[in-house]
Order: sequence, then C-alpha cells, then structure tokens
Amino acid sequence: MAKRPKHPPVLLYHSIAELGETLEAGACAFRAQMEHLARAGYRSLTPNEFLQGLDTGEWPRRAVFITFDDGYLDFHDVAWPVLREFGLNATVFLVHDGLEGGIQAWTGPTYPVMPPLLSWAEVLEMQGKGVYFGSHTLSHPELTKAGMEVLTAEIAGSKRALEERLGEEVALFSYPYGGAPPAAPQAVQDAGYRAAFGVAPAAPTRFELFRRIVKPARTLVPFRLRVSRAYEPLRCILHVSRGEKC
Ligand SMILES: [Zn+2]
Repeated sequence: MAKRPKHPPVLLYHSIAELGETLEAGACAFRAQMEHLARAGYRSLTPNEFLQGLDTGEWPRRAVFITFDDGYLDFHDVAWPVLREFGLNATVFLVHDGLEGGIQAWTGPTYPVMPPLLSWAEVLEMQGKGVYFGSHTLSHPELTKAGMEVLTAEIAGSKRALEERLGEEVALFSYPYGGAPPAAPQAVQDAGYRAAFGVAPAAPTRFELFRRIVKPARTLVPFRLRVSRAYEPLRCILHVSRGEKC
C-alpha cells in the first residue's frame, strides 16, 4: 500500500456565515483565526507551492493550506479582504454550474437554505490577487451515488470548463460532501489533476488528501488546536476511545 502523503494542515471552510450564528459573528471568528495564523508566523501556500511540497516532501516551516469549498459569495465579500489584510492566500473549489447561475440548492442533505454563490464577475476580480481556484465538479452531485459516466463528466468536464474561462491550469480537485467513491481518485488522476482533497483521514494517495474542517466555536482554542501538530494525534486518540479507526 502506498505511503500516506505527508503535508501541512489543510483547512477546509465553506461559507463564512456558517462559522457563527450570524454573518457578523462568522466574520469575526474568521478574522480572529486569520489574525492568529499571521501572528503565529504561519505562511499560507499557493497550489503550486503545495504541489511542489507533495512532489519533494519538503515544506516551508509553519505552512498551512487554506481551502474553501462550494464558492460562496461571502468568500468575496468577507473572507478575501481579511486574507489580504493578513497577507494570506486561499484556494476556492468552485462548482462550475453554480458560477453560471444554474444552481439554487445542493442536491445532498446539507444546506436546506443555500447561501448565495459567487459569480464569474467576483471570481475574475479575485484571480491573481491571493486567490486560487480548484474544481468542485460541474453540479455538486453526490459522487458516491454517481455512475462512471457522470463521475467522468463531473470531474473531467469541470476541469475543462473552469480552465477555459480562467485561462489557467486547474490542478486541484475536491470531492463534494467529502466522499470519494472507489473509482473517483483514478478518474481525478486521469482527468489531469495533480492532487485532490476529501475529508477522510486515512488518505492513501495524493488524490484523496485529508482536510481539517473548521467548525463554529465560541473561542479560538479549537482553531489553534486544529492548525497545531497535536491535532492529528489527539484526533486519533479521540476516535480510538470511541471504538473507531483513527
Ligand atoms: Zn461542496
């Protein structure tokens, strides 16, 4: 079995609004988190720097990779100015059809009321200004329930469509709902992506890398833990204590 790739913490956000009871509370929490990263000397990686680290196994000290899934409008309105203030960058995994205004709700179990999504205007405004883009499929289906044809269309089709509009390589992919069916990592590799992210901790290859989901919290303590080296061992202990695999 392939050795699990080692990499710095990869943070996963969705909308800023979900970090608090209100958008203002979420914005406040996000700002405190970014301020912590900047003050503690963390450096956020670009996709190219992350991929280079995967290739060489060498990483800058105190590195972190900040990712956002789905492409919500509050990334542009709230997160981007905060990232710029603290000199940090982020990678946003876009749902192609959402940018075209073609999605009003996700088909999966989460988000009964969906926050507004980014449009191409905001994406192109942020491109090259500390924001990088990956693919999160064409239409955000549950890939674990999709047949091979849909899987390929969603994975390869979104790469092509995003690259055409962005005019640059889209090298990274993230799985909607965190779930990668057995055939997906190979389909991602065949489509020409160079790495992919899920949320399963035991990722065996670079096409199913683990991300740490940032959840709402009343204090900064869980976030500080989430970016620290202690996170994975503690998470493992917690899971084993519940009789689960770590
Ligand atoms: Zn998603």
